[in-house]
Formats: sequence, C-alpha cells, structure tokens
Amino acid sequence: MAINDKHFCTCMGEGITSDAGHNLLAGHKGALLLASKWEVGTSVSIRFLDGDDQLQQRVRDVAREWMDVANISLNFQEGGATDIRIAFEQGNGSWSYLGTMCRQIPEPQPTMNFGWLTPDSADDELRRVVLHEFGHALGLIHEHQNPKDGGIDWNTDAVIHDLSGPPNNWSPATIEENMFKKYEQNALLMTNVDKESIMMYPIPLSWTLDQTSVGLNNTLSPLDKELIGQAYPR
Ligand SMILES: [Zn+2]
Repeated sequence: MAINDKHFCTCMGEGITSDAGHNLLAGHKGALLLASKWEVGTSVSIRFLDGDDQLQQRVRDVAREWMDVANISLNFQEGGATDIRIAFEQGNGSWSYLGTMCRQIPEPQPTMNFGWLTPDSADDELRRVVLHEFGHALGLIHEHQNPKDGGIDWNTDAVIHDLSGPPNNWSPATIEENMFKKYEQNALLMTNVDKESIMMYPIPLSWTLDQTSVGLNNTLSPLDKELIGQAYPR
C-alpha cells in the first residue's frame, strides 16, 4: 500500500478552551504541549466505551509502553467516570484530544477513537496507531508541525491533492490544521525535528520540497523518550 493511501490521524481540540479561557488551537495557537500537559505523576484514568476484549487488551499493553518513559500512570478501569474514554467507531478516523483537554470533553463522549483498528489488525499497525494516539493524550502534537528551524518545506499542492481524496477526504480546513499550521516555539517543549518520532505522519517524498520523507514509524524514538521524560520527569 502506498503511503498516501493510508489513513491519517487528526488531532482534536478545535473549540477547546484552557482554564484561562484561551482557545488552545485557534486563538491561542501553539500553547499545546505545555498547556495540555498533565501534572507530573498524575494517575490518568481510562476506560473503553466499546471494542472486542482481546483488542482492548492489545491496546492496553501497547499504551503502557509510555509509562516506562514518562512519570505518569495510565490506569485502565472498567466503569465510572474517567479522564480518557476510548471508542472503536469504524470509519470515524483515529484521533485523540491533547492531554488535559480530555477533561473538558463531557461524559460519556469519547476522547480517543481508533477508527480502523479491528481484532484482525496487524501488530505493527496497532502499535503505530496506539502509541501515536496516546502520545497526543500525553500532550504531544504532530511532529511534522514541529516549527524548529522552519519545519518541513511542503509541496502544498501535492499534499492537498492527496489528502483531499480517499481514504481521508479532508477539507481544506482540516488539511491546514493538521499539516501546515505551525505552533509557536515558546508554547512548546520540543526537540529538533525528529523523523523517527511516533508523532510523525508517514510522508511520501512527493509531499516535500526539501527531500524529507518518513516511513511508517511504530516505535518510540530515542527523542520521543527524551522529550516525554523532560515533560514528565521522575
Ligand atoms: Zn495524530
């Protein structure tokens, strides 16, 4: 399968405001990682809203890899109100709200969705998507929107052409929000642009003018571990 036939994650947060009333994505663009960071050492409660038992277990096992590198605990529970709520609504894309924004989503709406994971999903694909969405849930933005040193030099026409079509069928606004928008550097804790990051999209060479291309990352990179360790130190 060609990379641009892949489903892409959309990062949620439009309309979410911080405690101070700033619109985190629109009006106060860029205050993401820092503004959505959980308190260090927090126990984040999580439950599944639906999904096959074994599939849920696979998601739990992969998500917990983040706990090895971040001082935060991900506590899956069976019922009751939770900070994070996971759905497997097929066809609704894969996405997550960022970090503490999840607490602003009213019960029992999902804060994370796995729109193409099924009991038949291959381990590589499951790891790629689950580590990535839990990265958002810890407050990480898409690595391809890392503004360091000007960020990626996009071939905008090619990106718009490919993402406007199936299977993503994104609107111009969604493409702008998820591909080209760059965050303000002072709102972020960041590393140099990391092509190995779990938060990178797969990027075909045709999408860039600076020879950047990225494959399907499905492990936490050394810089992912370093960054999350700085955000959530022990
Ligand atoms: Zn994403």
